[in-house]
Amino acid sequence: RSKDRGGNQYTFFSADMNARAERRLALETKLKQAIREGGLSILYQSRRETVSLEIVGFEALVRWDDPEEGPIAPAEFIPLAEECGLIASIDEWVLETACREMRPWCTQADKDIRLAVNLSPAQFIREDLHLVISGILRRTGFPGVKLELEITESLFGPGNANARKVLEWVRELGIEVSIDDFGTAYSSLSRLKQLPLHTLKIDQSFVRDLGQDPDDETLVRTIIAMAHNLNLKVVAEGVETRLQYDYVKRYGCDAVQGFLFGQPVPCGRIAQMLNNRDIAQRLQSPPFGKESSE
Ligand code: C2E
Ligand code: MG
Ligand code: MG
Ligand code: MG
Repeated sequence: RSKDRGGNQYTFFSADMNARAERRLALETKLKQAIREGGLSILYQSRRETVSLEIVGFEALVRWDDPEEGPIAPAEFIPLAEECGLIASIDEWVLETACREMRPWCTQADKDIRLAVNLSPAQFIREDLHLVISGILRRTGFPGVKLELEITESLFGPGNANARKVLEWVRELGIEVSIDDFGTAYSSLSRLKQLPLHTLKIDQSFVRDLGQDPDDETLVRTIIAMAHNLNLKVVAEGVETRLQYDYVKRYGCDAVQGFLFGQPVPCGRIAQMLNNRDIAQRLQSPPFGKESSE
């Protein structure tokens, strides 16, 4: 029976594959245009010290809003850009623009606010990465010591000897490096220990089930304890609920990010965000006390 339908399935699959290939090609063309003509923008997500909920940094998240397609998620266009060789232009644009937009906030004398920018693994193995970055720091006047690069664990698999060298160049510029989405790829903490890293960001897939999945509780607690033993700071990503926040706080996580503390905002809204203490007041009150009455 399946043989009889084979022809149809083939037609179905090939039509589907065609449609996908066409969409890809169309997106690629549009993306090139967006990079050239200012179609990309950046939103900033706050990072907060876990206990005080003081803002200690912002992560730059690229956005693409196509006039016809509407907003296209980074999960769709970043992998596309990586495959078709556009990622270098995107990452450089984001780095330079974020440094320019955030400099006023990251150079205030009375605050210590850092800027975190995501870099694709392909960027991080470029021989000239430190030249690109030092050029951007010079042009924007952004201090290297306030910059953090977020990279993924996949970079440190076997056969990536260059990554270590790049990390050392980057460190000479005063820049810190964090491992993003930690826990989603294979890498041993003892291996990470040999690299000049500063921070682990626990992937939101582990944070999501805190309070529901005891395995994730153990995992998150263990990652935090081991990271601290290796002198690494830990950030929990994707904190959406009070319960998740209470868990990571109890486990001694250093900083938190997530929708619980607000959606990512354009740079024009940063001032307002820095002045707003409502979030901290709301979350520091006891969860079921009088103060939290709705
Ligand atoms: P990421 O670096 O792990 O960024 C965190 C992602 O989680 C962001 O998605 C953010 O909007 C989302 N997020 C933050 N808090 C919460 C939460 O509480 N709940 C949920 N469900 N999600 C939350 P976004 O902006 O769609 O970015 C997705 C990924 O795309 C990023 O993951 C990063 O890997 C990549 N990306 C974003 N901007 C850039 C960039 O400029 N360059 C490169 N190479 N990659 C980028
Ligand atoms: Mg990130
Ligand atoms: Mg992440
Ligand atoms: Mg991610």
